[in-house]
Amino acid sequence: MPTCSHLDRITTEAPDPAQPTGCQECLESGAIWVHLRRCLTCGHLGCCDSSTNKHASRHYEATGHPLIASHQPGENWGWCYPERLFLEFAR
Ligand SMILES: [Zn+2]
Ligand SMILES: [Zn+2]
Ligand SMILES: [Zn+2]
Repeated sequence: MPTCSHLDRITTEAPDPAQPTGCQECLESGAIWVHLRRCLTCGHLGCCDSSTNKHASRHYEATGHPLIASHQPGENWGWCYPERLFLEFAR
């Protein structure tokens, strides 16, 4: 099974669930999104590729932060953009 070489870029803990969460850019422009993805390097929340604006992918393109995780309740997977690797996180 291929292993992601970017795991040392994971620097954020899971965010405080009490905080309101949403795609910041979509909230500012009044757009709606489908699902949320969390950047594991800086904690940025962006919307998924099924959303119109694809802010999570744009965040990767803008910053080079390689790893995201699903921010949907109960979902425990992530994605490495540069290696196109699906990751499963043990909890
Ligand atoms: Zn990787
Ligand atoms: Zn968005
Ligand atoms: Zn980031």
